[in-house]
Amino acid sequence: MAKQIQAIRGMKDILPQQTPLWQFLEDRVRSVLSRYGYAEIRMPIVEMTELFKRSIGEVTDIVEKEMYTFADRNGDSLTLRPEGTAGCVRAGLENGLIFNQTQRLWYQGPMFRHERPQKGRYRQFHQIGVETFGLTGPDIDLELILITARIWRELGLKDLELQLNTLGTSEERRHYRDHLVDYLRQRFDELDEDSRRRLESNPLRILDSKNPQLAAVIKDAPSLMEHLEEQSLRHFDRLRQGLDEAGVDYTINPRLVRGLDYYSRTVFEWVTDSLGAQGTVCAGGRYDGLVEQLGGRPTPAVGFAMGLERLVAMLESRDLQEQLATPDVYLVMMGDRASREGVLLAERLRNGLPWLRLIGHCGGGTFKNQLKKADRSRADFALILGEDEVARKEIGLKPLRGKGEQQQVALAQLEARLEEVIIRG
Ligand code: ATP
Ligand code: MG
Repeated sequence: MAKQIQAIRGMKDILPQQTPLWQFLEDRVRSVLSRYGYAEIRMPIVEMTELFKRSIGEVTDIVEKEMYTFADRNGDSLTLRPEGTAGCVRAGLENGLIFNQTQRLWYQGPMFRHERPQKGRYRQFHQIGVETFGLTGPDIDLELILITARIWRELGLKDLELQLNTLGTSEERRHYRDHLVDYLRQRFDELDEDSRRRLESNPLRILDSKNPQLAAVIKDAPSLMEHLEEQSLRHFDRLRQGLDEAGVDYTINPRLVRGLDYYSRTVFEWVTDSLGAQGTVCAGGRYDGLVEQLGGRPTPAVGFAMGLERLVAMLESRDLQEQLATPDVYLVMMGDRASREGVLLAERLRNGLPWLRLIGHCGGGTFKNQLKKADRSRADFALILGEDEVARKEIGLKPLRGKGEQQQVALAQLEARLEEVIIRG
């Protein structure tokens, strides 16, 4: 036998028994977003490398060491997208969606980062991202957070905490940065190699380090909040007030930073303890500087992205998977005539009961064999159609999960009977 080829490390197949959970997640999110008036945009998965260098920034983990970059046949440097915001802004500018208007957009799809694979961290992973353009006030920040809170509610996810911070404007951050660098210089010995390098180029990012060795330095660092001016503080207060009024709990985490210059004011993350180390399922914030950085006119923008693998992992801990994946009925058909009539009956049922999940047996075989397949499909009921049943215009309805005896049902009454016995979760 020829040697089998394996998938690329850190890139996973999503298998048929898992896709019902993914679809459940994606459907619920899509539904919430459309009810808030957000429109889907679909961008290419590959972009010019320059786009990510300019938007994410040269001195970041993503650009320094995580991008899948290659030369195409023309020698252009291309990159598999590591995130969606850059491409969304690029597409918005290129298609005239951003200048002088407001937009509420979302997208979904795979992202690629060459990270060390571990639970909750993959090299191909999936996000649903939301971006808004043209809105400056805290009201849109609030709307985005309310959307995320509603998504968790409608998914039935409970163990999530909202962490909130404000980064002020880039000017306010410049002042703060000087204080921070002074402080970090004093504790230079405690910094790791990455942080020492970033001390000059991107010191705020040091606060975002995941290295436990840096925890103490980070904890004692001066606070950005104390360097904010009136307007930024008011923006933050209004957002907090809105969250309080809407009954959304949050904690303020002054260590929640984005090292990138285009971020401003609001940043937030939803985190959980239930997933171990990779506990952030959704991260967002305001990035008023990015559109200009990518060649557009100054445009306020705010958005978030959620990591679908981590959300699916949270959903997996419930017994949802089985409930979503199972058919209602499996149709067993014995003999030629029943097989032909059975196909038509199945079509009739699908017409009359559009919600019905029905698998029709294919491939013939003995009664015992077909019933075994019905059982394995995890259907709640088998419908049994043999020559006798066809002749008498009836069908057997057999509960497969220990709920009573087989009954004979008149074909004319079958839709009504199925509606009675199948209680939908
Ligand atoms: P982390 O701190 O976990 O590295 P990040 O700050 O790099 O996350 P973002 O770029 O803000 O992540 O992406 C938003 C979300 O996408 C994250 O909160 C997470 O849920 C998910 N995500 C990011 N990187 C990965 C990955 N390699 N594998 C799986 N999910 C990921
Ligand atoms: Mg990361």
